[in-house]
Amino acid sequence: MSDTASVDTRPNALSAWPDARGRFGDYGGRFVAETLMPNIIELEAAYEDAKRDVEFQREMEEFLRDYVGKPSPIYFAERLTEEFGGAKIWFKRDELNHTGSHKINNCLGQVLLAKRMGKTRIIAETGAGQHGVATATVAARFGLPCTVFMGATDVERQAPNVFRMKLLGAEVVPVSSGTGTLKDAMNEALRDWVTNVHDTFYVIGTVAGPHPYPAMVRDFQSIIGREARAQIMDRLGRLPDAAVACIGGGSNAMGLFHPFIDDEDVRLIGVEAAGHGIETGEHAASLKGGKPGILHGNKTYLLQDDDGQIIDAHSISAGLDYPGIGPEHAFLHDAKRAEYVSATDTEALEMFQLCTKLEGIIPALEPAHALARVRDLAKELGPEGVILMNMCGRGDKDVPQVAEMLGVSL
Ligand SMILES: *Cc1c(COP(=O)(O)O)cnc(C)c1O
Repeated sequence: MSDTASVDTRPNALSAWPDARGRFGDYGGRFVAETLMPNIIELEAAYEDAKRDVEFQREMEEFLRDYVGKPSPIYFAERLTEEFGGAKIWFKRDELNHTGSHKINNCLGQVLLAKRMGKTRIIAETGAGQHGVATATVAARFGLPCTVFMGATDVERQAPNVFRMKLLGAEVVPVSSGTGTLKDAMNEALRDWVTNVHDTFYVIGTVAGPHPYPAMVRDFQSIIGREARAQIMDRLGRLPDAAVACIGGGSNAMGLFHPFIDDEDVRLIGVEAAGHGIETGEHAASLKGGKPGILHGNKTYLLQDDDGQIIDAHSISAGLDYPGIGPEHAFLHDAKRAEYVSATDTEALEMFQLCTKLEGIIPALEPAHALARVRDLAKELGPEGVILMNMCGRGDKDVPQVAEMLGVSL
């Protein structure tokens, strides 16, 4: 399970974690069956090697530019700034990426790594289907067969994304164990990986899973924060007062936060999904409404009952309803470096409409949660303040659901 090395390998800077054992303070690590260790050790070595390989970096840059459309711009949301009556609001526009969200940054990195390792088959888990579609997209581009595990309940709920994955050539495997949702799909993918280690690469969709996934996914998503930091310095000659992002598993937020961690004056604010309200128990706020435990190979905050059984998350936004949060967020939370707040379904629905009407940008329901807290923060900081929010996905995918919630039949 875990080792007991007595050497002190604790990094000095908060940004330099994890330690050599893949721990972020108390969190993270690799709590997996012995049978999975060879896969994880092979992956860790390959990733360490790729990080230092200029050819790998060059290939990443080329595909990020020509296929994903990087760099995505930053944008001054002038009318929302006026509406909220406070700090200036800037969006990092990762919704303009190919496939419509930040997810492809990570899928591209992992699939290129798979190719470099000589793996010939890609597997992934998916909840709403966004990570499944992004993975199937990159697998199609490189001609690699792709199998996506998806909870049977989600397969029913997300028919358009299931069809999209099939068009992209992926096989979608419905998982009916447990509650037939994301956590069960992830368990099934881990099982497949143990059985097919010689040819298979498992592309995890957020900063979760056993080490090295949380650090690796963060590194691939850090392009968000690296670009945005340079862009805002270039445009304003200063850093923002706060960087804000929504949190499902926490990958777009970690990607935005990481390049700012050592900038002590920049507040880092993660917005979890409060669903019907944290007090109702129907939410997806693992940090605010959960407690530490172990799931999918790492220690972090989880939604669980008194017996430690994982509880299904609820959110209006399918992309936010993971019952855990990446271990680095748990670490930054306990270290008080980042702040974690939440927004309800109702607030997200309101922000979805407001942003569309005022900026002509249809946000995904996920970043609409972040916008609800940006509204409060803008007032708190006042007109001299600058807020950088990651617009991590576009909302076209959510239009049918929003219409239904507003009682409009299409
Ligand atoms: C999947 C998804 C999320 C949640 O995932 P994180 O790992 O927390 O970033 C948020 N926004 C969008 C648009 C997504 O597709």
